[in-house]
Amino acid sequence: MCEAAKKIEKILGEESVSFDEEDLETHGFSEWSTSNTAQRPVAVVSPRSTEEVSMIAKICHEYNVPMIPFGAGSSVEGNFTAPFSGISIDISRMDQVIALRENDMDVTVQAGVNWVTLNETIEQHGLFLPLDPSPTARIGGMIATNCSGTNALRYGTMKDWVVNLTVVLADGSVIKTRRRPRKTSAGYNLNSLFTGSEGTLGIITEATLKLATIPTHFSVATAAFPTVRDAAAAASNMIRNGIPLAALELMDEVQMKVINQNGGAGGRTWEEAPTLFLKFSGTSDGVQDNITRAQAAVNTHRGSKFQVATTKEAMKSLWAARKEALWAMLAIRPEGTQIWSTDVAVPLSHLAEIIELSKKESGRLGLFSSVLGHVGDGNFHQAVMYNPNIPEEKDAVAHCVDDMMVRALKMDGTVSGEHGIGLGKKACLEKELGVNTINVMRALKRSLDPRWLMNPGKIFDEEETPAA
Ligand SMILES: Cc1cc2nc3c(=O)[nH]c(=O)nc-3n(C[C@H](O)[C@H](O)[C@H](O)COP(=O)(O)OP(=O)(O)OC[C@H]3O[C@@H](n4cnc5c(N)ncnc54)[C@H](O)[C@@H]3O)c2cc1C
Repeated sequence: MCEAAKKIEKILGEESVSFDEEDLETHGFSEWSTSNTAQRPVAVVSPRSTEEVSMIAKICHEYNVPMIPFGAGSSVEGNFTAPFSGISIDISRMDQVIALRENDMDVTVQAGVNWVTLNETIEQHGLFLPLDPSPTARIGGMIATNCSGTNALRYGTMKDWVVNLTVVLADGSVIKTRRRPRKTSAGYNLNSLFTGSEGTLGIITEATLKLATIPTHFSVATAAFPTVRDAAAAASNMIRNGIPLAALELMDEVQMKVINQNGGAGGRTWEEAPTLFLKFSGTSDGVQDNITRAQAAVNTHRGSKFQVATTKEAMKSLWAARKEALWAMLAIRPEGTQIWSTDVAVPLSHLAEIIELSKKESGRLGLFSSVLGHVGDGNFHQAVMYNPNIPEEKDAVAHCVDDMMVRALKMDGTVSGEHGIGLGKKACLEKELGVNTINVMRALKRSLDPRWLMNPGKIFDEEETPAA
C-alpha cells in the first residue's frame, strides 16, 4: 500500500500525498459516527482533476490497494472508515465550478465543491441547489450518500438534482453517465446507480446538477403540541391537504428543553413541548394562503402558540432553535459520552406511532434521548447519549437502535432515510431488502470492481475482502 502511495507521490508531488498521522486519523475516524474501525488508511491523496483521480485508481488497481473516496467526512454511519486500510482519496481540492448555465438552470462542478460555497456563488443569479446536509459536505459525498435535509419535502433528495456524472472506476477508466438534457430514456439510468453508492462503485469527479429558482417570498412559523402524536398528526394533515410547505420539521420536548438549557436559541425561551417548525416559500399571496391553511391544521390537532415570522430577522430567530439543535445537544453532552444518532423513514401514516414507540423504548434506557425529524418526509432522527466505555450501556443503546430499525421495517419503512448504510447499518440492509436484492447489488459491484477495491467492507457483508 505504501509503495502505491509513494508511486502516486512521485507523479503528483509531495503536496498531494500525506502520510501525516493526524491526516490519517481525520480520514479514518469520525466523531460523528458510532461505527469506526481500528484501522486507518496508509496515506491521503488529494488530486485536482479527473485525470489525476484516474491515475491514482490505476496505481491502486495495479497494487491491489483499497480506495476510499473522501468528501468532507461528515457522514455518520462509518461510511469512509478504512477496515482494510488503503488509500483515502480526498476530493476537497477539486473545488472548481466548471460551468454555470443560467438559462438552462444547471451547473457543472468538480466533486469537491462545497454546497454552501456553491449557493453563495450562484445566489446573484437567483438560483440555488436545494440540498442542505452538513454545511461542510461536498457534492461528491452528497451524491454518494443521496443526501437530503430540511428542503427535501419541497425539493426532493440529491438523486432528483443529478443530470450527469463523471466517474472514475476501480481500474482507472473514466465514464460519463449521460449528456445534459433534462430528460432522456437512452440506456440504463446510471445516475441512480452511482447516487447513494457510498463510494463502493467508483469515484465521482464531476457532476452536472439542476438548480432551482430562489423563491421571492418566505416565511417561517412554529407551533407547540401537547404530544408528539398530535404534532405528527398535524404534519400529516398538512401534507395530505397538499399545503406546499418548503420544510416541516419536528423537535420533541427533550430537544426543546436542551435549546433552553443552552441559552434559548433566537433570543427566546421556548415552550418545552413537541414543536413543529414550518417554512413557506413562493409568491406573497401563496405564502399567506399557506400560512392560514397550516394554522387551521395546527388548531385541529391541539396545537398552540402558532407564531409566524415575516421579516428576515424574525425568520432567523424562529428557525434558530431548529438550526442550533445539534450544536445545543453537543454543548450539554457530559464528558466521556458519545451521541448515537440514527435515522429511519416510514410511510407518513406510521410516523406518529413509530416516534411514540421509539421514544418509549429509549426512555427505558434511563439515558438522554431526543427526537428530531424531517417529518414531512416521514423521516426522523433519534439521538441517545451513552458512555462508550460502559459495555452494558453501549449494548443497550445498540439493542434499542436495532429495535427501531426492525420497527421501521415492519411499517414498510427504511433503515436509513438519509445517512446511508456505511458500516453501521449493514446488518439491517439485508433485513430491509432481502438476500436476492443484495445479491444483485453484489453482482453489479463485482462487474464494476472485480477486485473489490472501492471502499470495501461497506453496504454488503464482509464475505468479500480486497485482494490485497
Ligand atoms: C452536523 C451534521 C448535519 C447533517 N445533516 C444532514 C442532513 O440534514 N441530511 C443528510 O442527508 N445528511 C446529513 N448529514 C450527514 C452528511 O452531511 C451527509 O451524509 C453528506 O452527504 C456527506 O457528505 P461528505 O462530503 O461529508 O461525504 P463523506 O462523509 O466524506 O463521504 C460520505 C460517503 O461518500 C463517499 N464519497 C465521498 N466523496 C465521494 C466521491 N467523490 N465519489 C464517490 N464516493 C464519495 C465516501 O467514501 C463515503 O462513503 C449531517 C452530518 C452532520 C455532521
